[in-house]
Amino acid sequence: MKVPILIPNIFNHPFTYNTDLNLKVGDYVVVPFGKAELTGVVWDEFERKTNKNFIIKKVSRKLNVPSLKKNTIKFLNWFSEYNMTPKGMSLKLLLLSSKAIEEHTSNVYEQFKIDIKQNKIELSQDQKSCLKKMNIANDKFRVHVLQGTTGSGKTMVYFEALKDIIKKGFQGLILLPEIGLTGQFQNKFVEFFGFKPAVWHSGITKKNKEIIWSGIANNKIKVVIGARSSLFLPFKKLGIIIVDEEHDQSYKQDEGVTYHARDMAISRASFENIPINLITAIPSIETFDNIKKGKYSLSKLEQRYLNASLPNYEIINLNNTKLESQNWISKEIIEKVKFHLKKNDQVLFFLNRRGFSPHVLCKKCFSSYTCLNCSINLVYHKKKNFLLCHYCGYKALLNRDCKKEGKCDFIFSGPGVERISDEVKKIFLNKETIIFSSDTMNKKNSLETLEKITNNEIQILIGTQLISKGFHFPNLNCIVVVDIDLSSQGHDLRGAEKNLQLYHQLSGRAGRTGKPATVYFQTYNLDTKMISDITNKDPGIFLEKELKIRRENNLPPFQRFIALIITGNNEKDIEKEAYKFKSFIEGAIEGKVLGPVNAPIFRLKRMFRVRLLIRGRKSLKVQTSLAKMMQKYNFPTGMKLTVDVDPINFN
Ligand SMILES: [Zn+2]
Ligand SMILES: [Zn+2]
Repeated sequence: MKVPILIPNIFNHPFTYNTDLNLKVGDYVVVPFGKAELTGVVWDEFERKTNKNFIIKKVSRKLNVPSLKKNTIKFLNWFSEYNMTPKGMSLKLLLLSSKAIEEHTSNVYEQFKIDIKQNKIELSQDQKSCLKKMNIANDKFRVHVLQGTTGSGKTMVYFEALKDIIKKGFQGLILLPEIGLTGQFQNKFVEFFGFKPAVWHSGITKKNKEIIWSGIANNKIKVVIGARSSLFLPFKKLGIIIVDEEHDQSYKQDEGVTYHARDMAISRASFENIPINLITAIPSIETFDNIKKGKYSLSKLEQRYLNASLPNYEIINLNNTKLESQNWISKEIIEKVKFHLKKNDQVLFFLNRRGFSPHVLCKKCFSSYTCLNCSINLVYHKKKNFLLCHYCGYKALLNRDCKKEGKCDFIFSGPGVERISDEVKKIFLNKETIIFSSDTMNKKNSLETLEKITNNEIQILIGTQLISKGFHFPNLNCIVVVDIDLSSQGHDLRGAEKNLQLYHQLSGRAGRTGKPATVYFQTYNLDTKMISDITNKDPGIFLEKELKIRRENNLPPFQRFIALIITGNNEKDIEKEAYKFKSFIEGAIEGKVLGPVNAPIFRLKRMFRVRLLIRGRKSLKVQTSLAKMMQKYNFPTGMKLTVDVDPINFN
């Protein structure tokens, strides 16, 4: 008997094998491929273009694992087509090695055993009515959005919904945007359910991956909390998906196989015919549009926990104070912060810039210190005492031969969190301070640090956007946005949306236990639309306005964008090639081709980059027509085309 086997590699089709085994679609097998033995899956259709002239090899063996569900196979096929990625690469997102998926000992699953305890958590009237709405039609595919201010208790509502479903024997998946969050989140989960969820992200050990993968395939693990990649686990009986913070743009995977995890979660739920809940304080524009069209149902939680109100906002006019050179904290703010500290409030200085200074230049030759591999300034990290490229990781010491004479003599322009931290320490003596950024918080001691912050043993935090992501700090009642003007720089079609989400999330960190809280914005620019959008209590006004702008300008979600990035090591050649490719596809695909233009980061990791943008209807035809043309086109060696469907970053 002949069977089609998909192998986790760059091919877009299964290979044909012979077998005497009794194999069915979804079975995991080991097959010879070239000189190697690979794990593959019996696929649902044969390769269409059969190549006659090769020897059909034999399947080595069948693996002792529950087979992959047909719905999951259909989902992967669709995923490949939508994201324009080879089917083999989509399978790779799901598969572990044959050894890893076969080996599993049963006693390790004791720790995940569901034993739902009675908890004393009582839902409010508001929460109960949301839960009721969430439970409507939850035995089949439907998208429900739970919208509620930060700190309004959305988690408890979807925990209840999840509980009902796992009690019926189904599995549940909770997607979170940030792996740093899973620690605090896990505690909350255990407190509610009384048993441990499996936690899945790229950082867990290989051993844990094997255990969880098998546990999911065997239905021994009931709940997974995970990052993007958990969407590809081989669930045997998935009954519900929850996407927390659905608006968060880190759901978009930009590198390797690119996809948007929220959108793919919705699609997987539809293939599995199960309900999916999107949780948010302010929906993304895409979700808002679908709510308005009636495609998604909606419930709203209006009140914060303990009736806490959202923080007040105050604008600090920097034109009125004279900041000393290399200082960023105004006298007015110092007084305000002292007032808060006296009340034992925790204070956060927010600046979305890692390191000490984003721009280092020589005062003799005036040249900036840029990355060797990228067209990007290096950022000075004072604690580690080196310059770092935030895009490729290149490091350099503060040491360079000057074009004028001798060594360069550096000055540091502009602040990063380390520099603000230095300033804060000079002003507020005897206070415990900490920098909260990906440079300081990804270590093993971060749990300990989080606890210290929670217990108010640290009075002042200096943080980047990492801190906006769902952390719960009960004493945080004062936030100082050091430089709101920074956020209005840059031109990104989602810039306004990104800022609104960021500052809303950030504000949500303050005043969580009912004490009055204030967010202060330092600015030189008093009539920005951005501040009034952020401080407006009704996000619906912003969303309506933004949706209108998108519609008028033919932007997503009204049109489909596909970004094509051509990279190569010769800047002139890639530009020529980009024009050539453009004229090749133009007219032959469903959509308009814009560009080419040099990418904003023209050189990245030693490669020059040119971008094309395809704008078309929201139809899979855009992808299929483009894929067809791409197959017929060969880029010269050394050049590469990367495709990003529904791009978020336009670097
Ligand atoms: Zn670099
Ligand atoms: Zn110099």
